[in-house]
Amino acid sequence: MPCPVLLIAGGSRGIGAAAAKLAGARGYDVAVNYLSNANAAASVVATVKAAGGNSIAIQGDMAREDEIARVFNEAAKLGPLTHLIHSSGVTGKNSRLDAVETKTIQETIDVNTFGALIFLREAVRRMSTKHGGKGGSIVMLSSMAAVIGGVNEYTWYAAAKAAVDTMVIGVAREVAKEGIRINAVSPGAIDTDIHEPGRLERIMPNLPMGRPGTAEEVAEAILFLLSDAASYITGATLNVSGGR
Ligand code: NAP
Repeated sequence: MPCPVLLIAGGSRGIGAAAAKLAGARGYDVAVNYLSNANAAASVVATVKAAGGNSIAIQGDMAREDEIARVFNEAAKLGPLTHLIHSSGVTGKNSRLDAVETKTIQETIDVNTFGALIFLREAVRRMSTKHGGKGGSIVMLSSMAAVIGGVNEYTWYAAAKAAVDTMVIGVAREVAKEGIRINAVSPGAIDTDIHEPGRLERIMPNLPMGRPGTAEEVAEAILFLLSDAASYITGATLNVSGGR
């Protein structure tokens, strides 16, 4: 039987990279999208291949409509796409809202919200049985910031991620009879490069488990929702936040 084909937007580092490696170990072929870190993407591709899967790296800006469509088309060279993870995300330089530059807000919403909507649209156009596709499973990366607000750090990012929770509910219901499940994973503080230096140490006393999570812990939840073990779960957001 052919391997299921998975595209990961933002698969070169952090949570997306951990999910790519776990997926490779579990028998997926994996297309690894990245923005600028070609070496990191190549390392993820090598790990998937070492586990026996096929894998390619695809550069592309997931904030741009034309590039998102191109990334989907290039990923399909591995075979018909049946599984997707949207992990490309940025917070912008941390501050209160009254100190943030307009450009930071725009860039954050372009990647996290606009890009996520276009990603889902392109997915449905290709995967929905209504459009002749085979169906599949999609996991979007939200954030606990969507419910706690990103206070004093990145309220614009929190708002951009709240939109992800909402689009998952709505689009999942639109395509529930068309073979596609769509869910979100909402991480708390996870130890990756996304944080400004010193942030994780600063917020540590407020973390219920007294530690941040690992990208691998989030990847386990993503792979569960992607899989047939989650066949009756759609439109859901799963918190992976250590109680935060
Ligand atoms: P990360 O370590 O900073 O990695 C970000 C990934 O996204 C990289 O692969 C990066 O590619 C890619 N990326 C960024 N902008 C992109 C763009 N415009 N087009 C394509 N790829 C782009 O971040 P992370 O911590 O793994 O976060 C992954 C997701 O989880 C994000 O959506 C984030 O908001 C969410 N999240 C993270 C945390 C946390 O504590 N870490 C908590 C809640 C939610 P390059 O390597 O090429 O730069």
